[in-house]
Amino acid sequence: MENDERHPAAPAQACEAADLIIQGGIVLTLAQESSPPQHATICVKDGRISAILTDGAPLKGRGREGRILDASGALVLPGLVNAHTHAAMTIFRGYADDLPLNTWLFEKIFPAEAEHLSPETVYWGTLLGCAEMIASGTTCFLDGYFFEDAALRAVADSGMRALVCQGVIDFPAPGVPDPKRNLETARRFIEAWNDVSDRVTPGLFCHSPVTCSTRTITGAYEMSAAFGIPFPLHLSETQEETLEVLERFGKRPVQYLDALGVLDERTVAAHAIHLDREEIALLGERGAKVVHVPQGNMKLSSGLAPVREMIRRGVRVGLGTDGCASNNNLDLLEEMDTAAKLSKIAQMDPEALDASTVLKMATLWGAEALGLGDEVGTIEVGKQADLITIDLQAPHLTPLYDACSALVYSAGGGDVRDVVVAGRILMEKRCFKDLEIQEILAEVRRIGKTVALGKSRNPC
Ligand SMILES: [Zn+2]
Repeated sequence: MENDERHPAAPAQACEAADLIIQGGIVLTLAQESSPPQHATICVKDGRISAILTDGAPLKGRGREGRILDASGALVLPGLVNAHTHAAMTIFRGYADDLPLNTWLFEKIFPAEAEHLSPETVYWGTLLGCAEMIASGTTCFLDGYFFEDAALRAVADSGMRALVCQGVIDFPAPGVPDPKRNLETARRFIEAWNDVSDRVTPGLFCHSPVTCSTRTITGAYEMSAAFGIPFPLHLSETQEETLEVLERFGKRPVQYLDALGVLDERTVAAHAIHLDREEIALLGERGAKVVHVPQGNMKLSSGLAPVREMIRRGVRVGLGTDGCASNNNLDLLEEMDTAAKLSKIAQMDPEALDASTVLKMATLWGAEALGLGDEVGTIEVGKQADLITIDLQAPHLTPLYDACSALVYSAGGGDVRDVVVAGRILMEKRCFKDLEIQEILAEVRRIGKTVALGKSRNPC
């Protein structure tokens, strides 16, 4: 940045040298607890927000002109953060539905992954996932899968921001046939891509306490600590998993992780459904993060995550879609709606989870889970210019009394009009700027035909 915090440029001056000016929209910064949306102009320099002007005067023609993004008739808000997904699983969208988790995972998904995953299929599947996320307002995500070097290349090509994590599991896995080499594979991946991009960070994803040994979990944790990156894993997704950990280790899953010394502010636990009160309190005390994935949990009937209780106990809860095989889309606006309504019915209390809290889960709290709370998640001077606009010129978004309500209960991914990441426009008026969407669709359709052939060979 040209100006440090001690000598900030005057707002108008900061806009004179802007690369991008977003004007004409109603801006919801989410920076303060109750900052109301207001007409504002956002200036971007070198990928970061350099000024936010609320004087109402359009900047076009003032000073050196940057690129103008016209946000007239739109709501401008921070880009959404999908804190748990497996982007390449777009290739298995609709492949196996309406099954219990263990049947779905061990009899359908793991065999299909073994047969069909390759660097090529992961690249195209991830790129399709990125296109889908961009088109529905997500600018940043946490990915955990296999062949993650291919996933990382896709994310880099898409222009999105992500923490891209190589999966670690104690079974033969795609690209890692010998599980003894799972941690070594992750280390080589991280070392190869560390510091290559400001937008894309390599990491590792520990599959779960029942699919990873104690040694693998502690090894994965130590590696994430050494690289200063989050430690994501699936946790307490099913009752059976919780009972298995209790039986094998004499502790419930959260206490088990704590006893191993791997539960702290870098831990990012996806699902976190079957928790008792002590576990919820421990998550809060240790500063661990949780990612709520309501639609996947509903579809696999895994259970109701105690979201309200976790938030009350100080746990930062982000929001994720999980992979497309268990959702079956990556639309975080839809996920917000589900999160709010699911908590209400779980508690039989319409105040259990309100719209503004859900919006925080999908923005700043998700960013914090990814270790990016100082960089993205709100619209503030100095932060990365990761922004989206929502087209308000639609019947279902009229009238507009409360922006949070409109976003959570009325809007859908199709209402996203423009998407900016690090000051670069990735989608404008719903047109991708860089992605060759027809090519991506054709490639994934081609992969889908191969997957379908495998399915017809194994109809059960
Ligand atoms: Zn998952």
